[in-house]
Formats: sequence, C-alpha cells, structure tokens
Amino acid sequence: MMRFCVLGVFLFFLVPSLVSAGFYPNSSAVPPDLRRSATGNVWNSFLNFTGCHAGMKVDGLYKLKKYFQHFGYIPETLSGNFTDDFDDILKTAVEMYQRNFQLNVTGELDELTLNHVVIPRCGVADVVNGTSTMHSGRRAYEVSFTGRGSRFNAVKLYSFFPGEPRWPERRRDLTYAFEPRNALTEEVKSVFSRAFVRWAEVIPLTFTRSETFSTSDISIGFYSGEHGDGEPFDGEMGTLAHAFSPPNGHFHLDQNENWIVSGDGGDGRFLSETWAIDLESVAVHEIGHVLGLGHSSVQDSIMYPTITTGRRKVDLTSDDVEGVQYLYGANPNFNGSTSSPPSTQQRDTGDSGAAFRIDGSRSVLTKLLMSTVGLFFLYSL
Ligand SMILES: [Zn+2]
Ligand SMILES: [Zn+2]
Repeated sequence: MMRFCVLGVFLFFLVPSLVSAGFYPNSSAVPPDLRRSATGNVWNSFLNFTGCHAGMKVDGLYKLKKYFQHFGYIPETLSGNFTDDFDDILKTAVEMYQRNFQLNVTGELDELTLNHVVIPRCGVADVVNGTSTMHSGRRAYEVSFTGRGSRFNAVKLYSFFPGEPRWPERRRDLTYAFEPRNALTEEVKSVFSRAFVRWAEVIPLTFTRSETFSTSDISIGFYSGEHGDGEPFDGEMGTLAHAFSPPNGHFHLDQNENWIVSGDGGDGRFLSETWAIDLESVAVHEIGHVLGLGHSSVQDSIMYPTITTGRRKVDLTSDDVEGVQYLYGANPNFNGSTSSPPSTQQRDTGDSGAAFRIDGSRSVLTKLLMSTVGLFFLYSL
C-alpha cells in the first residue's frame, strides 16, 4: 500500500510534454549546427585537480565532494559543510570510486581517476547507504544455463538495488506503454521493442506493448528538466535517462537529447562526430534497471554506468545475463548465448574523449522512493 501512495504522489507531479528532442535515422542526418562543437562537459573543470592528494587545500574542491556525494561516495549526512580541504572524507570517496571502476586505488586524484570522473555518466548512485552497489570480485552466484552448463567464466560484477527488488512471480508477462503526449512515431517505439527483446531472450518474462499508459506495468516517457520525481533532466547531454527499480516501472528519457533511432550508424564514425545518442543503447541499459539490475563494474556490460561517445552498445554480456537470470531464472529457450556475440556487435570508434550519463541524477526523493519500494519488497517476501 505504501508503494502505491508514493507512486500516486509521484505520478501527480509528472509533467509530460510534446517531444522537442530530435530523432534522427542516423548520425549523418543530425543537422550540422548540432554536431560536436561545444565543450559540453560540465565536469571538465575537475581536471584542474589532477595531482591533488590528502592534506592539500584547493579552491573548488568542495564541488568535487558534491559530485562524489551525488553518486553515493560521501554520505548525505555530511552535506552542508564541505570545505576545499582534501580531507579523509574525500580520500575515502576517491578510494571507493577507484575500486568500483577498477582503477589503481591510490586515494589521490591522479590523471586516470579524474579522466573517469569527468565522463558524463549514469546518475543512479553507485553507493547506497554506504554500501557499494558496484562490486569488484563480489560473491559468485550460481546460474544454470539450460542444457550446456555455464559457458561464461567472467568475474561476476553485476549488482542489484538494495533488497534485490524484482517483479514478483505472478507478474511474468509485463506490458509497456508510451507517454501519449509524446506522440512518438512507430520508428521510435520500435527501438524500445527491440531493446525489450534483448532481455526477453534470456529470462522467462514477456514484454507486450500496450496502448494504455496509465495501467501499463512499464511506462516510458520523454520529459524535460524537472518533471516531478526529483530527477531533473539537464538538456542536451549530461543526464540522458533514468529508470526506477521494480516494480515501479517508470522509465524516463531526456527529451532534449538528439536521439539516433536507426539502430545502425552504418559507418565507423557513427555517433562520434555528433552530440547524438544511440537510443537503443540507452533503452537496453534502462530496462536493466526496470528489471532490478544495478550497475556493473564490467566495462563492456550493458549495466556499466557510462556509454562512451561513438559507441553503440546493445548486446547483453554474460555479466548482464547472469545478473538478470539470478533474479528471474533462465528463459527455457535460452541456449547460453545472446543473439549475437558482443565482440563483433559492439562497435567502438575508439573515441573515448567523452561519454554520456545514462541515467538521471539520484536525488533524495528518488532514494526515498527506491528505498520505499525496496522495503515493500522486503516485507512482502
Ligand atoms: Zn544506470
Ligand atoms: Zn524522471
């Protein structure tokens, strides 16, 4: 009941609007004035902190503390009195961040670490209530692969939301619908359909499109700025989308992005020359959250927090598959491999100069909502 009350308030404040975002069949269709020209990344100033370490005091360092706090590396309780001192709080945060992203754990703001920090990224926190949701070398889960045994040997780094919320057993056939006021084209809607199929191939869940937005299990909408859930979108780049843990089903995208909907760039320059985002890549990632997956430390996985410029990443890796099968079991038809090998399907133009935040920032309200949903699950199990 609590869950529905919270959702009621949540829905009341949603402010959908017509999509003003650009949808382009491919990157060459993006108008020239939208091509990469701007400096883009609001976090670039953090690069000035290269070489900083404990004991130093540097102007503006408090902003970096806010950044780390935003992603959970510094507890909310410590907000309000950030100084420019490189104190133990910041050192601890840097070390945890380095562990999550599999960097050398130096506790210092070395070049490699800051290059990671400034990459626009998913706003869903990596650390919740002091516990990292990204694990390097976490406990192993037993996952059975029908008929063949495990063919995957990768370290399991997938994660879940606190309490491991998932769609309950009685809800295996889920519906999804699109915010009607967005008036999306069939072409755009079909991108999401393809993204759902990628997950449905490996777990015994089905996803069926519904025309009834208000009653669908999963609701997909494009929104602009503050849209009622405490996760304001920030216009072009930065925050791209966010989704909530099950059984919430809300999946929001920033309507001010320039989205590529073709599913194929056609050449090696795909996305790398534009400030445009591959919609399906983001959709597959967010559906992972809708299903209950958190972020993974596996760089190639769908659930890694960032997606690098120039990259289209839509194929589940073994880490994604094992994570979601831990929650739901395997699709009886799943033969141990996804439809195409990630190594040949993932194109990377080699442009790692910038990446995009996939999810919205995770505010207090969202944390409240997520933890409420999580608690609901704990008590219902
Ligand atoms: Zn995410
Ligand atoms: Zn939202």
